[in-house]
Amino acid sequence: MKYKVPFIKPKFPDTEDVANDYDEILAANWFTNFGPFERKFAQEIGTYIGEEYFAATFSSATAGLMASIIAVLGHGDGTKYIAMPSFTFAAGADVIVWCGYLPIFVDIENLSLQMDIKSIEMLLNDEQYKNKIAGILFCNAFGVGTTNIEEWEQLADKAGLPLIIDSAAGFGSLYSEKRKVGSAGTCEVFSFHATKPFAIGEGGAVVSKDRDLIQSLMSIQNFGFRQGNVTQLGFNGKLQEMNAAIGLRQFINFDSILQNRRAVFKQYRMELNAERFNLQNNAENASLCFATIVVKQPADRNRYLALLREAGVDAKTYYSPSLHKQDYFKKAVTFSSLPVTDLIDSSVLSLPIHDNMDQADISLIVQTLNDSR
Ligand SMILES: *Cc1c(COP(=O)(O)O)cnc(C)c1O
Repeated sequence: MKYKVPFIKPKFPDTEDVANDYDEILAANWFTNFGPFERKFAQEIGTYIGEEYFAATFSSATAGLMASIIAVLGHGDGTKYIAMPSFTFAAGADVIVWCGYLPIFVDIENLSLQMDIKSIEMLLNDEQYKNKIAGILFCNAFGVGTTNIEEWEQLADKAGLPLIIDSAAGFGSLYSEKRKVGSAGTCEVFSFHATKPFAIGEGGAVVSKDRDLIQSLMSIQNFGFRQGNVTQLGFNGKLQEMNAAIGLRQFINFDSILQNRRAVFKQYRMELNAERFNLQNNAENASLCFATIVVKQPADRNRYLALLREAGVDAKTYYSPSLHKQDYFKKAVTFSSLPVTDLIDSSVLSLPIHDNMDQADISLIVQTLNDSR
């Protein structure tokens, strides 16, 4: 079904500009394997996060997550756990299993929708698990930066565990006015999938202060080669030149796009009936792949969803059902119960945000939700 207000409406570079890049790629006769467009794109990503940061591009965030776990922890023997939220996208848990670890799900907080630091403290003190945790996969929920990132860094430091951060949807987001998402943990992973605010089609990147780690990630994504010799387990996770060229063009208006997207979210925050809806904490500092709201009466959520769709608005319910309810991951261990995850699962609603969203479309969404009885 085609909606009057689509869920995403990414803006891609003009045909003429892309054609010029394509000509340049043909003339260089260099299509992938760290060509000039990819090298420049990787450098711009690092610089965007901060002067002392480096980036490795990838064919997807999933490939970036996989290489990060292999680079930081090595391939596991299937007995150690990596802690992560159940309320996130499947990629993180998939990758943990592919890398030879087991996901262990911890609960989230009610208003930030971020992993709950108290749950992880409990886990790290739990007799059954405390010696079996190999690392933490923090997931900035919907690409929104958690406001307590320093506490997470301290906790990981103290426990001697790597803190890999899945910030897939969060390129352009801020933890706080002073700190960008991308600047924290052992490394942070971004996606440039068409559904994300910085879209190139398929693509991703890993950002870190650790230059050796970035070198290792480049080797892993290139079959484990270093100077023609396979020195570690690898795969093919490289980003091709055409996608890097699109990425370089997407930087051009990115700041104004972010402003527009944040303005839409602020309007949702101001205009949606606060007695009936919560909006995710710190989302006004995010790049906002969409707006996440929580319906205070979970029983009403599906009715709101249906009303929006009847009105021609493609709303969704990310990341519901959460991972511990998905058939494959039901087998994965869950740590105690996940009451907040279960509550949010039944009450979350995702509203469209576009780069240049029509005022009429925003009003339609607000009115449909506020006027419903
Ligand atoms: C989109 C997303 C991914 C996957 O990104 P790809 O580039 O499609 O591999 C992973 N994790 C989260 C949280 C996401 O939102």
